[in-house]
Amino acid sequence: MKLGERDGATPTRNGNSAGAILHPCKMATLIGVNQPSSRVDKVLLAAPRGFCAGVEMAIKALAWMVRAFEPPVYCYHEIVHNQIVVQRFENLGVVFVDDISDVPEGMPIMLSAHGSAPEVVAAARERGGYVVDAVCPLVTKVHHEVKTRADKGYQIVYVGHEGHEEAIGTMAVAPAAIHRVESPLDVQQLPDLDGPVAVLAQTTLSHREWSGVLDATRARFPQIWEPGRSDLCFATTNRQSALMEIAPRCDAMIVIGSANSSNTKALASLAVEAGCPRVFRVNGADELPNDLSGTIGVTAGASAPEDLVREVISRLSPTHGVDEIHVTSEDEYFPPPRNLRELLGAVDAAVSVAFGGPHDGRVPLDDRNIDASYVLESLAENDTTSGPVDA
Ligand code: SF4
Repeated sequence: MKLGERDGATPTRNGNSAGAILHPCKMATLIGVNQPSSRVDKVLLAAPRGFCAGVEMAIKALAWMVRAFEPPVYCYHEIVHNQIVVQRFENLGVVFVDDISDVPEGMPIMLSAHGSAPEVVAAARERGGYVVDAVCPLVTKVHHEVKTRADKGYQIVYVGHEGHEEAIGTMAVAPAAIHRVESPLDVQQLPDLDGPVAVLAQTTLSHREWSGVLDATRARFPQIWEPGRSDLCFATTNRQSALMEIAPRCDAMIVIGSANSSNTKALASLAVEAGCPRVFRVNGADELPNDLSGTIGVTAGASAPEDLVREVISRLSPTHGVDEIHVTSEDEYFPPPRNLRELLGAVDAAVSVAFGGPHDGRVPLDDRNIDASYVLESLAENDTTSGPVDA
């Protein structure tokens, strides 16, 4: 079995509005791609896929900041783990930094959706500029659980990936009380822990990653405290369920997303475990292998925009079209961070007009009903550094 891991693709853009899935022939026409004769019969398209509510919120929040402030706007860490999203913002003057001290004093800063360590949030505020913390509310919930348990004297077994921004930020909430593990073996190797023990998790783990370690942790610490609901987020779970519905029926599975996206990697691993004979994680259509045939499954990680999905399907050009396999609906909506909402009230006119709102600015920007994919495509259209459409 093969899991393709190929990086460094040139980003592509097509300038189409987000919308319903089109017949692949129409999509090919729209983006101007001359299709080779396809040996792909059918595409099974997972739903839900792509942007989750947390990523939607973070991308729109950064877009509103780009509209509200003169460049550069600074962003601590990649706003989401997707190199094409990051590059689109970079082209608009957003500067991504991994150290808050790289931000000049007084400049606007956004903190990424993965959640930041308390000292990073404090350092950002000390720079004296406008700070928007775009942490996903589900990550905030885990930070809160860590703080609450640590304050009550618990030792915390935290299941998370080494070096992942979310894990780093969460562990920094109570570094003296937290013990990161990734595998049942890690649990065996933990020292004896004094006092009560709790178990918490990175939100983007797969159920398989989580359940094996949870069982080992329960066996090692029988009195362990667990949250009423696991920390695994609905978006991760739903994308995995949709993938499991199609992966066993496919000759190959395409997972769209970046190599540093935890939930994307979990999707690819799950497809392999589900018995799909060929699994490829790709950044975009440019990275598709050219020997695909039969039934091809397509999904996208929570930080991959929908226009990449359309480009991949267009390039696959299935002779018998696309079946979208829908396992559940998602209607979660996370509003922009509070202080950004207040700022938007002041700059509504400029932001609203830029994204199709009323020209007099009297009606508030309707954040809920604007898709982040649409915002990204609008940003790409306004990007004067963009090159020709990639074919
Ligand atoms: S994957 Fe889940 S936890 Fe992560 S940003 Fe999306 S909704 Fe939030």
